[in-house]
Amino acid sequence: MDRKFLRCVHDGEVIKGYIEGDNVFPIQGEFWEDFEAAGGKFPVPEIEEWLPPVVPSKLIAIGLNYRAHAMETNFPIPEEPISFLKSTTSLTGHNTDIFYPVGLTHAVDYEAELAVVMGKYAYKVNEKEALDYVFGYTCANDVSARDIQKRDGQWMLAKSFNTFNPLGPWIVCGISPMDLRVVSRLNGETRQDSRTSDLIFSIPYLISFLSQVMPLLPGDVIITGTPSGIGRLKEGDNIEIEVEGIGTLSNTVKLP
Ligand code: MG
Repeated sequence: MDRKFLRCVHDGEVIKGYIEGDNVFPIQGEFWEDFEAAGGKFPVPEIEEWLPPVVPSKLIAIGLNYRAHAMETNFPIPEEPISFLKSTTSLTGHNTDIFYPVGLTHAVDYEAELAVVMGKYAYKVNEKEALDYVFGYTCANDVSARDIQKRDGQWMLAKSFNTFNPLGPWIVCGISPMDLRVVSRLNGETRQDSRTSDLIFSIPYLISFLSQVMPLLPGDVIITGTPSGIGRLKEGDNIEIEVEGIGTLSNTVKLP
């Protein structure tokens, strides 16, 4: 299925729908249920604002899931997944601004990541069946205030500033997450370039691991870790996250 699921603003209204060809087809209902066409269609360039493609109950992040990245940040290689929650209000869509928290941090980094969007209630699922609970995949930027992350005992605050989690542009279904290229480009220059086959803990393992503790609900998002090559963002920067088989998420850094 080559439908790309998204949320956006069109004619001043929030639209949930999918892109097929060059058009957006609005729907009623949830992506992961038997939704109905809401009627009509409009061309993709008429999108007024790209929104995060889902509104999750939980935005779960995995830290240090690529060896080279753990080494570049001087953290030990984890023996089990390191997880933390990000505020769902950190989510923002494609082609929006990342607001720089002036006065609160002096070290804002980008992090290219594959994001998993759950499609079914998943509680205590095993690794073999874990991917059956996934709706699809999208691109994420786990923007991080590195100075706050290092002095806080938790990572939640450093990664939960408003607009610190670009997600999108859309969700793609029916692809395997096991070996996808993950790239970031800062002002057009490639900074991160790796593959999900290099993940220390695979996507099915992560879903099973997390679901032993908390039910994962449809629409919940797991961002799965970033490869080496992270770096600083400053005002005016454009940062692109591209994941193979999905697309490119582009955002610009602005002062508030
Ligand atoms: Mg991260």
